[in-house]
Amino acid sequence: MFQAFLIKYGEIGVKGKNRYVFEDALVKRIKEVLWPVEGHFQVTKDQGRIYVEAEGAFDYEEAVEALRRVFGIVSICPVVIVEDHGLEALTQDVLHYVGEMYAGQEKTFKVHTRRANKKFPVESMEVNAEIGGKILEAYPGLTVDVHHPDIMLYIELRSQIYIYSEVIPGPGGMPLGTNGRSMLLLSGGIDSPVAGYMVAKRGVYIDAVYFHAPPYTSERAKQKVVDLARRVAMYTGPIRLHVINFTDIQMYIYDQCPHDELTIIMRRYMMRIAEQIAKDTGCLALITGESIGQVASQTVASLTATNDVCTLPVFRPLIAFDKEDIVTLAKQIGTYETSILPYEDCCTTFVAKHPVTKPKVEQIRRSEKALAEKIDEMVAEALAGDEVLEIR
Ligand code: ATP
Ligand code: MG
Repeated sequence: MFQAFLIKYGEIGVKGKNRYVFEDALVKRIKEVLWPVEGHFQVTKDQGRIYVEAEGAFDYEEAVEALRRVFGIVSICPVVIVEDHGLEALTQDVLHYVGEMYAGQEKTFKVHTRRANKKFPVESMEVNAEIGGKILEAYPGLTVDVHHPDIMLYIELRSQIYIYSEVIPGPGGMPLGTNGRSMLLLSGGIDSPVAGYMVAKRGVYIDAVYFHAPPYTSERAKQKVVDLARRVAMYTGPIRLHVINFTDIQMYIYDQCPHDELTIIMRRYMMRIAEQIAKDTGCLALITGESIGQVASQTVASLTATNDVCTLPVFRPLIAFDKEDIVTLAKQIGTYETSILPYEDCCTTFVAKHPVTKPKVEQIRRSEKALAEKIDEMVAEALAGDEVLEIR
């Protein structure tokens, strides 16, 4: 029944002179997500609106599904387009539309006409009154409520006429590419994929790094991270996933440093390496799934010790979230089922029985001196072995 979608966007409407940058980014992303959908689509900007028009038949469900993953979209309105043959013909078209959508239902409605085409001979108020009256006659279950209608029936008079009333919520946020690129530390857990999603939702392209510790972590654990990246990429577009072999560094820390500080020191090396890759690849910030107090390595003191090695900003969008809320989000975005698969992760392989919860930065720096002999070389080697996977 529908031939088009009217795309409504929020925040990006208020960006003054930069507005076109945001709109163009949104149009670009809409085209990208519609590319694999069955059908041909024209995406156009017009007077603060974006229209997606299908040329011929298309897969409606798939198209809606794809558009619902586009950051920056506040709502998606499926539109029926009819030719302009004057008010009488339009009334018949609207009655037909209302019949298809709401026949037999008990609801309140209001007609809202917008006369973009000033050549249309009847003013919008009159169109509202005329068509509203005919709807009342034709559908006894429907009554008018001009203040809080169940159904807002929009009629846009343009060179053709657009009729719509349904509003499907989009994810909101900002269009991808309007805020550069950042590097996500992606583990196989529940939190980091959600963290990546949240930052991407603010318009940031995502790349990712995964620290792999074979044979302590298996190929399947790595595959799980690839699967998670693929899920996240449905929203964020392609992700370059850097897989870093962390085994030697981890073993060296285990041999040289106090075991209760192991996790913190490991986390510091992960951050250092992630930051190096970020800088080499034009990423402007790091992203982690950390949340205050979730585990020993995420107390405020531990986060301070981890943060100590970074010069790029580190975004921790889940910092004040309860686990339950993170799980809810993970389920919503479709990463949860993969995240809970039971493969080992490299942080838990060597985890101490009683890790420090209040590390002192000075003490940790002193402990790391024991690594002086070989660590730079090992980090360089890990970076040189960076395996880059293009995740789509
Ligand atoms: P997650 O559910 O994201 O794994 P977590 O609660 O298990 O988080 P930690 O294992 O302490 O917490 O990790 C904290 C953060 O450090 C993760 O959210 C992730 O950003 C990063 N991280 C941890 N392990 C790895 C890894 N092997 N590779 C890449 N990043 C990692
Ligand atoms: Mg983890």
